[in-house]
Amino acid sequence: MSASPSFAPFAAETRRRRTFAIISHPDAGKTTLTEKLLLFSGAIQIAGSVKARKATRHATSDWMEIEKQRGISVASSVMQMLYRDHVINLLDTPGHKDFSEDTYRVLTAVDSALMVIDAANGVEAQTRRLIEVCRQRNTPIITFVNKMDREVREPLDILDEVERELGMPCVPMTWPVGQGKSFGGIMNLRTKAMTVFDSGQERLPQDFETIPLADRSNLIARFGSEFETAEQSMELAIGASPEWDHAAFLAGKQTPVFFGSGVNNFGVMEVLDALVDLAPSPRSRMSHLTTGGQTVTKEIQPEDENFAGVVFKVQANMDANHRDRIAFVRMASGKYVPGKKLKVQRTGKELRPTSVVTFLSQRREAVDEAYAGDIIGFTTHGGVQLGDTITDGANLQFTGLPFFAPELFTTVILRNPLRTKQLQQGLAQLGEEGAIQVFRPQMGGSMLLGAVGQLQFEVVQHRLKSEYDADVKLESSQYTGARWITADTPAELRAFTDAYPQRMALDAADTLAFLCTSPYDVRLAQERFPKIHFHPLREHA
Ligand code: GDP
Repeated sequence: MSASPSFAPFAAETRRRRTFAIISHPDAGKTTLTEKLLLFSGAIQIAGSVKARKATRHATSDWMEIEKQRGISVASSVMQMLYRDHVINLLDTPGHKDFSEDTYRVLTAVDSALMVIDAANGVEAQTRRLIEVCRQRNTPIITFVNKMDREVREPLDILDEVERELGMPCVPMTWPVGQGKSFGGIMNLRTKAMTVFDSGQERLPQDFETIPLADRSNLIARFGSEFETAEQSMELAIGASPEWDHAAFLAGKQTPVFFGSGVNNFGVMEVLDALVDLAPSPRSRMSHLTTGGQTVTKEIQPEDENFAGVVFKVQANMDANHRDRIAFVRMASGKYVPGKKLKVQRTGKELRPTSVVTFLSQRREAVDEAYAGDIIGFTTHGGVQLGDTITDGANLQFTGLPFFAPELFTTVILRNPLRTKQLQQGLAQLGEEGAIQVFRPQMGGSMLLGAVGQLQFEVVQHRLKSEYDADVKLESSQYTGARWITADTPAELRAFTDAYPQRMALDAADTLAFLCTSPYDVRLAQERFPKIHFHPLREHA
């Protein structure tokens, strides 16, 4: 599609947007880097952030009480900052593997990813899983090698590992001189200057001293053999890596690598600049458009005039004082202004939010206007589900927001039977949020909870109690899997459900599922009913 001004009134706005997820293994320094990015873009003030950190020891991106208790990021959060006239939307991802579903959905809402690696540990287990997801989607990845102020691994060694794990070549953008106690700084390969390291948390990026690489005698006098060693390893690295190719990066086939120390504010500005200079602006998204009874595939361009977006996250009761839910919508096209009439495609109903917010670092604020790439939060009292497509009229549905068949199940037993209503409300909401999958056995009996990770159960149990005042016991269940069921004809479906009445359940979206007690169940059922389709993944449709 052409991006000429007459057809693309919002092109200038969408071009200056960057929407990325920050991913890492727990403890690599993601939270620290997030804070510094906010700090240096001017989104938060130094004094405030230092105080907040001292007061709570928790990052600005951690919201829920349970996160504080466990020290892990359960909810993925959204932060917007303005830097060099660009609107940067940062999406945090939960680091714990038990919340990988949530992370997966966040990664469907971004155009690029920033991967933080601990220079001592290299690519760790949790990062590997996230990389897989990025690779499936060809999401461009920027790599930040953190903690260079520590005794860490050789940079060449790290590069080698990143390359192997990512399955794509690294192109160093900065290169470290020394490490740990003798960490001298980083050489910037683009500006051909060395930025000199100084430890401390108060320094602004522009306060670091820079020395042109051309001033070699000075650099050798200052950093001695460390500098010469760094020069040599940099030569080797450059020799071993391809030329920087922006198109290859955008196609997810090459990653630029930066070195630094987040906690010391060092090397962070380079990353912020890379987000503006290298990371892509919003891309087009595939959808199914239904007109006149026919459904066709349609590519939605970010600068298209009509509003379209997808709900990639729903969160209830984020703020204990407001008993509301927020549907996080990643805008795919159009412009949002207050009062705009929008509709939920699944139900055809008008979306009537009580408020519409953006996420400015720690605050939620009313939206003035928003464009493709932006994340806006619709506060509602229901009616919106994970995966819903929101438009200003067009009957289209975005594809690609998956639900994975759970591998763990528990039954829910209410301790106080008088709280049934609260339990139902809680489970309905947590199910719609995607915090857990809720299955209602069709033959009746206790509700079943399905999860991909064990911790999801604990979070849900905790939240049922603290947010809905429903104290529950979770008991192990005989089920070990589920498959969503479809058939080509209603008669075939009926024959199947009649054969396995006690195995049928409906999930939160009222999609029919077959519950399994062993891996053989599906095979046996499939042999008996060859025309039934068993889906391990449900895409919202
Ligand atoms: P996350 O779990 O990935 O969000 O990691 P955090 O940002 O919470 O950092 C984990 C720990 O590493 C904290 O104690 C940080 O202070 C520390 N840390 C973060 N960045 C650096 C760094 O550049 N150098 C050193 N020495 N420590 C760091």
